[in-house]
Amino acid sequence: KIRVRFAPSPTGYLHLGGLRTALYNYLFAKKYRGTFILRIEDTDQTRKVSGAADALEKDLLWAGIEINEGPSQGGSFGSYLQSERLEIYREHINVLLDKGSAYRCFCNERRLNLLKREALKRQEIPKYDNRCRHLTEEEIKNRLSKGDSCCIRFKMSDQEDSFLDLIYGKVSYNIALNEGDPVILKSDGYPTYHFANVVDDHLMEVSHVLRGVEWQISTTKHIQLYRAFGWQPPQYGHLPLILNADGTKLSKRQGDIRIGNYRENGILPLALLNFIVHSGGGFEKDLKRHLKPHCYSIEELCEQFDLSNVNSHSGKLINERLLEYNRLELKRQFENLESRKQLINNIKELSKIHLNDKSTTILVDQQHIEHILKWSLNRISKLSELFSPDLRFIWTLPESYEVDKSVFSVLSGLKERLSKLEKFDRQELNATLKQISSEHNLKYGMLMKSLRTILSGLKEGPSIAEMIEILGKQDTIKRIELCLN
Ligand code: GLU
Repeated sequence: KIRVRFAPSPTGYLHLGGLRTALYNYLFAKKYRGTFILRIEDTDQTRKVSGAADALEKDLLWAGIEINEGPSQGGSFGSYLQSERLEIYREHINVLLDKGSAYRCFCNERRLNLLKREALKRQEIPKYDNRCRHLTEEEIKNRLSKGDSCCIRFKMSDQEDSFLDLIYGKVSYNIALNEGDPVILKSDGYPTYHFANVVDDHLMEVSHVLRGVEWQISTTKHIQLYRAFGWQPPQYGHLPLILNADGTKLSKRQGDIRIGNYRENGILPLALLNFIVHSGGGFEKDLKRHLKPHCYSIEELCEQFDLSNVNSHSGKLINERLLEYNRLELKRQFENLESRKQLINNIKELSKIHLNDKSTTILVDQQHIEHILKWSLNRISKLSELFSPDLRFIWTLPESYEVDKSVFSVLSGLKERLSKLEKFDRQELNATLKQISSEHNLKYGMLMKSLRTILSGLKEGPSIAEMIEILGKQDTIKRIELCLN
């Protein structure tokens, strides 16, 4: 039975790298009718950010990733929050202590810092010297009865360990060469990542661990822990790094790779997923060979996903691709009645973010948003562009302006004419505007300038006929009336 998990630490927002890991786990589970688990690894109390776990889940759901077991979904292997599993970890620590695979360490900060400084002086990698491995029972009892604080360390073997990485092939590493015995339970009673991660993967019956390649070095350590418990480790596959187009590293601190940022800019979930898989590999060649870009549905991605096609070299993000996928997805969503409704709701949500000066926002109804969307399909790549400075007028009435009284009679004539116009397209509108300016002997340029002010309050922007077309008959007439009254 396939069981995979996405196990983020709630130390910040979900970003592109995290979503890639979640997505590949999800596709793998879905393809083989397995289970996708969300486990929140919140044992590092100093790095925990409040609200981050909920935000992570919200981002995953937005992206279309269904969670089968998790903190909100429940499941028979819970709790799925590590901070609620402390008792379980303590029991398992005792198992290792009893077996002699773990020991109490009383070394204090000062000693550890000293070790560090001395190693650096010798130009060596600092590592713990495993001193407390050799404490006698007597010494331990004494220190405990004095109430000295201690942590628990794992006795790591200094043999080379290897495992078969599903993506990288055989990986060998002698962890003890570079690290001293790792802490598995801190003095505050919380386990460290390595320990909690292994115990949970085992207890939650995780069959495959797919995670970022930055964890590959830790895997031999994890395998030693499995051996100490006498457990069978899961299969491991490490996903390569994703880089910027210029080959530089994506930094979590770069706000722009935050998933919420894509959402707020009107990038659609499926476009984002296609963008990610396009740079990460793992799909049948046909996905790459498609001459015309195609935005695949989750079902199609699932069908094509094959772990053995995931590259072991880093992938690069090509931002133009994202916009291409988004344009395709926008059109697809618009064509389907059900998803069109969602798209319209999406625009309403985005307007709250992008038009925060509520005082001038006008309410646009469903039908009108649909009209605006249709107009925009071949013009925009992402929904936030509908709120750019030169299109804000769609959603807001112009602030105070002055128009020469001499154009008033022309405007009322125009209002009459527009209300009777049957075909409300650019061609007709242009003809009407020309006609009315010559009938009233008003310079065409003058009429255009005044109309631009009345309709948008802007000095530049789309052509007047286009503006009228976007606003539609009702709204245009309303704006002219507001000026006349
Ligand atoms: N908590 C780790 C993280 O934040 C999980 C790594 C793993 O998947 O084992 O990425």
